[in-house]
Amino acid sequence: MQFSPVQEPLVFSSGENTAIPVTTILLMNARAAGVLTALLLASAAAAPARADWLERTEAIMGTRCYVELWADDPVRGDAAIDAVMAELRRIDDLMSHYKPESQLSQINAHANQEPVQVDKELFDLIKLSTHYSQITEGAFDITYASVGYLYDYPRRIRPTEEQIRQALPAVNWRNMLLDEAHHTVRFEHPGMRIDLGGIGKGYAVDRGVEILKARGIRHAIVTAGGDSRIIGDRMGRPWLVAIRHPDNPKKVVTRIPLSDSAVSTSGDYERYFDEGGVRYHHIIDPRTGHSASKVRSATILAPTATQTDGMSKTAFVLGAEKALEIINRMPEYDAVFVLPDGHVVYSNGLRPPAPRPAGAPPATAASPRVPP
Ligand code: ADP
Ligand code: MG
Repeated sequence: MQFSPVQEPLVFSSGENTAIPVTTILLMNARAAGVLTALLLASAAAAPARADWLERTEAIMGTRCYVELWADDPVRGDAAIDAVMAELRRIDDLMSHYKPESQLSQINAHANQEPVQVDKELFDLIKLSTHYSQITEGAFDITYASVGYLYDYPRRIRPTEEQIRQALPAVNWRNMLLDEAHHTVRFEHPGMRIDLGGIGKGYAVDRGVEILKARGIRHAIVTAGGDSRIIGDRMGRPWLVAIRHPDNPKKVVTRIPLSDSAVSTSGDYERYFDEGGVRYHHIIDPRTGHSASKVRSATILAPTATQTDGMSKTAFVLGAEKALEIINRMPEYDAVFVLPDGHVVYSNGLRPPAPRPAGAPPATAASPRVPP
């Protein structure tokens, strides 16, 4: 989906201390990456057709898309990357709300008047989005776009209070009439719009991963914007996911070792402008029509990127405490939130059960504040 003009590129690094700008996360192997890379380069130089890591970055869906994989055969590895990129473009053509010819745009153009029939794939993702609306108590709601379309961050445009007041009644996922038998979508309130910017990239990443797995790839990462999924490990070591500081892309707040997992990070620093001391950014509270600012960033871990993408907006709207309550109820999920005051909080699955000496104060979910 081309959700907006291409963002500043994400940079992934194999060097642990490399200070480079990142939009959302850095991914790097656990240790001694430089040594591994040197070994790989040496072996590649001796025999170029040998197994190696391959990587490629393309601008698709209005964002940076990245694939890195371990290929036993570089020609087949390259073809696998081609197939993933083609799949991301296909999904963008189907689901972009920026492309007037996409089926998603057809829904927005006509579903106020009549049921609009779409491919089962798009229908199923819209239906799935209502599942996330349910489990996030409405924090995730693709009809947010009924007011969200009034914001244009690169141009520093935001709606007036009066425009928000008029548009807001159209924001309610329950007013989407979804006909499973005919794959049609009908809006039951005037002025409704949807966009899949909050789940489409996660879905596309999962599709990319399926393609790689079907081709026998056992070590890889696929990324689209803030959404990534990892297949396997990085040859015996986990990948390290680094969560960036909200105000300083070169600073890392924390690192999480991961393999065979998806991870999404949402941040108020991704697409925004500041005005009069207020940050207007791209995650919208469906209840108010304003940017949702209860956390600065939210990182979600789960088996699939559709899951992590679908959940990464929750804490912005509901706050860290409520979002942790939801995440902690679902064993497949974990989360790391950076709070407005700089504290970092973790879901139960990421908090080591450290034995505490007798008389120690009760454990707290918050770590010390991250320095600005
Ligand atoms: P990225 O596109 O980098 O993966 P996010 O996963 O944080 O970013 O998704 C942000 C996008 O989600 C916004 O640009 C917008 O398209 C969409 N969005 C914003 N607010 C909501 C919301 N309350 N519910 C569903 N989608 C939303
Ligand atoms: Mg996302």
